[in-house]
Formats: sequence, structure tokens, C-alpha cells
Amino acid sequence: MGALLEARHVTKVFGAGLLSKHRTVALDDFSLTVDAAPPSVTAIVGESGSGKTTLARLLLGLTPPTSGEILYLGKNVHRMSTGERRTFRRDVQVVFQDPYDSYNPFYRVDHVLAEPIANFRLAKSAREKSALIENALEAVGLRPEETLGRYPHQLSGGQRQRVMVARALLVKPRLIIADEPVSMVDASLRATILGSLRKLNQQFGISIMYITHDLTTAYQISKNIIVMYSGSPVEVGDVDAVVHRPKHPYTQLLISSIPLPHPRQTRNAPRAPADLTGVDTAGGCKFASRCPRVMAICRESPPPLYATDQHRAAACHLYADAPALKTKELDAVFVE
Ligand code: SF4
Repeated sequence: MGALLEARHVTKVFGAGLLSKHRTVALDDFSLTVDAAPPSVTAIVGESGSGKTTLARLLLGLTPPTSGEILYLGKNVHRMSTGERRTFRRDVQVVFQDPYDSYNPFYRVDHVLAEPIANFRLAKSAREKSALIENALEAVGLRPEETLGRYPHQLSGGQRQRVMVARALLVKPRLIIADEPVSMVDASLRATILGSLRKLNQQFGISIMYITHDLTTAYQISKNIIVMYSGSPVEVGDVDAVVHRPKHPYTQLLISSIPLPHPRQTRNAPRAPADLTGVDTAGGCKFASRCPRVMAICRESPPPLYATDQHRAAACHLYADAPALKTKELDAVFVE
């Protein structure tokens, strides 16, 4: 099984110039592999400042890492030939948070759908172009006759976002990176967009990387999850295990802060502190000053990811009896 997209020991530091006083490590020695097959759905979950959006931009080749490499089919995405870059741009599509940013308000929505067909020369005739667009719209549950010919403001937020999913589908990608795709959409419409993404995975064999601050939607769509805190993964693996039986104190606090009733949450369950994003930078566990279970060792050394179960690992000294993952390749514990 070959690797499709890989992050290898990727670190991204902002404000790292010689004269910079403010140095922020947005992503800290992060490694992950998305396999070419079978098609997967992986959620990356974290609060603001966790590094998840930086990770998305790095994986898309939109920003270079400070150290480490992003590889697509074994090639560094910043050292590709023109042809390799074109393949990468086609195979790895993105759906951003705010679909409105992707539209020109003066053009009908047809324009955003026609653009990738022209860029990648996907159709030999106007009839073929129309068929491609209509098929893509229908695949995401939109009626072409109710969508085409309209201006962006004439569609709902949910419809606009589904048009962007259809646009990503048009080029038959191998991976879609969806960065907070439902955070600006009404709750009632989120399920339809998540359903469209799930359908792309199951029917079209496209892998999905779902990036979000929202554990609930991550649980609904993904098979495996990576919970991020301050640029590092703190808990990874089978989404059912992580959400229903969280091991890491940060994940436990995140889950206890979900306002919806949780099957295992009692009235007296601990609530998350108001600020979960503060970071300890002294060299131990970054979560130490906020952790209700902090120990002396936590302030002395950063915990590795311990494989607490067959399909889960947690970066926490509480699990020091479990084997530490040999590398930081989180996917070693993923469910296939
Ligand atoms: Fe808490 Fe220590 Fe685990 Fe960090 S390593 S989450 S401080 S118990």
C-alpha cells in the first residue's frame, strides 16, 4: 500500500526570523501518511491555535514548512516539475470554510464549475462540459436546473458549499482536504454537506481529510481522528474509542464541554475551563498547567504517543506503561 500524501517530521514556526521577538510553533514535528488505498476519512480536530489550519495549508503546498517535508506520491510538493505540480493540484482538492470567498459575485455559479474543466481540459465539447457539471451537482444532491444560471447570493449557504464540493469532485481528485466546511452553515444544513463528503468517499473512492474544531461533526463523518493541542497530536485513532472513551485529559475536557447531551456524561461531569488553548512552553507536556491530572514528570519531559489500545494512542505520561510509538507516524494505530 503506497503513500498518497505524507507529512514527514513537519515543523512550522511563525515569526522565526533572526530579529523576531515572537516565535510561535504552529506545528511541531508532525508526521502523517494518507495511503493511496483504501479511501479514508480522517478528522483533524483542535481549537483555535492547535495547528490544524496550518497543517491544511502545509499539506496543500500553500505554505512551506520550516523543517520537514510534504510529499505527494513520494515527491516534495515544493520541488515538483510543472507536470507533477499539475497532477498534485488536480489530485488534491480543497473545500474551504467560507464558500462565498470562492465566488465572484458578478458571475453565475456556473463559472466556478466551468473553471476547473477549462484549467484541466476535462471536456472536448460544450455538451461534455454540461454533462460533467450536471453529474457533479447531482452527486452532491443539488438539482442542476435549480442551481445553474443563478448568482451566488441567490443560493443558500449550504447550497453554495455543496457547489464547492461538486467543483472539487469535477476533477476526480484522490483526496479532498475539507477545512471547516460546515462551520459557516446552518446546523440544519450541516448533515447534507457531511453526507455529500461521505458519498464522495464511499461511492467515488476519494479520501477525505476533515479539519474542524467541532468534535460532533468529526465523529459523524470520520473513521479515525487526530486531536491536536498546540501543534502536536495528543490523542489519535479509532473515532469511536476516542469520543466515547477519551484517554487524554485534554480530549476528556473537550468532550465534557460539548453542550449536547453525551451518552456517558452525567450532570456532574467536569466542564472545560474557559481557555483550553494556553500552552506550557517550558519543555514538558504543553497541557500541564491546565491538566487536572498533572504529575511532576509532566513538567520535566514531553510525553510521547503511547499506544494505549490496538487502535489508539495518547500523548500522556498517565499511560507510560503502554508501548510508545516508535515514530511519530500516527497512522500506525488507525482503523482501516
Ligand atoms: Fe496531564 Fe501530564 Fe498527561 Fe500532560 S502528560 S496530559 S500534564 S497527565
